[in-house]
Amino acid sequence: MATHPALPVVQEWFRVTAIDSTLTLIDEPHVHELLDANTWLVRGRDRDRLVDCGLGVGDLPALVAQLTAREPTVVLTHAHLDHMGAAHVFAHCWAHPLEAVESPELGSLLGSVWAAQGGLQDFDVPPLLISAVPHEGYDPSSYELRPAHVTRHLRDGDRIDLGDRALTVLHLPGHSPGSIALFDEADGTLFSGDVVYDDVLLDELPGSDREKYVHTMKRLRELPVRIVRPGHGPSFDRQRLWRIIDDYVASAQVPAGGSQEPGFRRET
Ligand SMILES: [Zn+2]
Repeated sequence: MATHPALPVVQEWFRVTAIDSTLTLIDEPHVHELLDANTWLVRGRDRDRLVDCGLGVGDLPALVAQLTAREPTVVLTHAHLDHMGAAHVFAHCWAHPLEAVESPELGSLLGSVWAAQGGLQDFDVPPLLISAVPHEGYDPSSYELRPAHVTRHLRDGDRIDLGDRALTVLHLPGHSPGSIALFDEADGTLFSGDVVYDDVLLDELPGSDREKYVHTMKRLRELPVRIVRPGHGPSFDRQRLWRIIDDYVASAQVPAGGSQEPGFRRET
């Protein structure tokens, strides 16, 4: 039986933001800011792709069906619950083989449980990670992260062809072992997942690797990126990307035992 206070039921679980005729941003405003991730619906001439798929609390397929007549394949940037929570309800799901999307770690909407699983006790986490429920009777304590059915493994350099545009897969470990980003070389758009976003970058989670993260950041700096469509928060341009990269690399390269805490910058 749930031990938390009753949460309000909301009709609109998702927030939908049309970026342009080929790109729609979907996020979950009733989810705590640490877990309110961006899902990107990318529409091509011949095929659509969903980059990540949120926490899995609301009915994402129903929403997507309102936005496109084609069932999109889900491309998972990595296996964390706020990016792959709904993956199991989609028929086609792609991910990097080093990412445990078919046997994901435990997930929870209970703040203390989730923080302990991710080693995030230093963060100010509320008892519940959602502030509303999508329908009457939804019990947050029953939440579990379910395995995705992977129909294609993606590797660095693979190209995802949408008909009139292509996304190149970049394997960028650091935040997690099999984190990927998708790069549209024709227009400079980078779908970056949690590899880079404009806030605290997490490099001390289970599976994180700071040395690899630094290498990933140096690789990203060489790319002709025009705009970053990240896994969390607002989009940003190349100048901001470079600043985030340079700050991260500088802070991550302090010697072991140094006084800085590289993964815990917060600038805003
Ligand atoms: Zn993540």
